[in-house]
Amino acid sequence: MSGSIRPTPEVTVPDRIRHVELSTLRLPLAQPISDAKVLTGRQRPMTEVVVLVAAVRTEDGHEGTGFSYSKRAGGPAQYAHAKEVAADLLGEDPSDIAKVATKLLWAGASVGRSGVATQAIAALDIALHDLKARRAGLPLSKLLGSHRDSVRTYNTSGGFLHTPLPEVLERADASLAAGIGGIKIKVGQPDTREDLRRVAAVREHLGPDVPLMVDANQQWDRRTALRMGRALEEFDLVWIEEPLDAYDAVGHADLARALDTPVATGEMLASVAEHLQLVEHRSADVLQPDAPRIGGITPFLRLAALADQAGLDLAPHFAMEIHLHLAATYPREPWVEHFEWLDPLFEERLETVAGRMVVPDRPGLGFTFSEQARAWTTERVEFGTR
Ligand SMILES: [Mg+2]
Repeated sequence: MSGSIRPTPEVTVPDRIRHVELSTLRLPLAQPISDAKVLTGRQRPMTEVVVLVAAVRTEDGHEGTGFSYSKRAGGPAQYAHAKEVAADLLGEDPSDIAKVATKLLWAGASVGRSGVATQAIAALDIALHDLKARRAGLPLSKLLGSHRDSVRTYNTSGGFLHTPLPEVLERADASLAAGIGGIKIKVGQPDTREDLRRVAAVREHLGPDVPLMVDANQQWDRRTALRMGRALEEFDLVWIEEPLDAYDAVGHADLARALDTPVATGEMLASVAEHLQLVEHRSADVLQPDAPRIGGITPFLRLAALADQAGLDLAPHFAMEIHLHLAATYPREPWVEHFEWLDPLFEERLETVAGRMVVPDRPGLGFTFSEQARAWTTERVEFGTR
């Protein structure tokens, strides 16, 4: 050995989570919302969205924020479950997201690794991803590894069933003028002829070139779904969404085989294991997972890998603020759902240009909660030290 001096390798001391804050807020909707589940009497019109917010801080002063949500019921339960498990994050390295997510899942495993439990954990998992991307100074999509800087987007909020047809057409025009690329309208009314009348009117209004989807929100039985699916073929739809009960994997598979129009589903499922039934049965052409509903970004990415392997298209449900980043990382050209409902919660707005939603170049998810969000907050709790 010569007398040369080796450089001392840099020792990295892992950062640690020192503080977790949970809060819940009630976001009122401008008007009561009805899809087919309301028209068939299964649910009441929706008047608010309850949001669970998780903020994580580390010893080194890094921060990340995530959220989960519920519609109609379950918000207080998500908040209660998150409160029970949040202290398990303290002292953990925030980079070890998979380890932390698994720990949180097992903490509440006796109530099931699905549903409210996974949705409570989702807010924390998303906060850790936001933190990691912010610390890297990268948009989340870039941290994960992106395929594109913008994603095709379609509007849903203008086509609900409580909205009279002339207003649906007006709102479709406004969406297209705002740079949104496709239009989705709700179907699944007790009178199927009324559904067909609305779809025909919207297709005629939009012309043949605008991408159009329909969403039956699980309200058809197998026979009706097949009849309606055949009647809808002439409208050249991008997809028919939730034609059947969300858990009818076999029925969806039979339908998907029988129709030329692609079948889309998955938004109501609450775990990767539930989605796997759809993948294994080849139930859908387009998978529609929802990261806050299935436990966060960690399980979403696992599912996305399986969906791609199976040759499926991807169109995540709701929460565009999160799903835009995740859709940007999907190998096949995806869609992201444009919903302005959560806009008041954030300082920033997403840009839509030429039919696509632009991934923000801000670090992390690229959102900060607004004063309005704080004003709507009903409960807050802290763990650890600031
Ligand atoms: Mg839907």
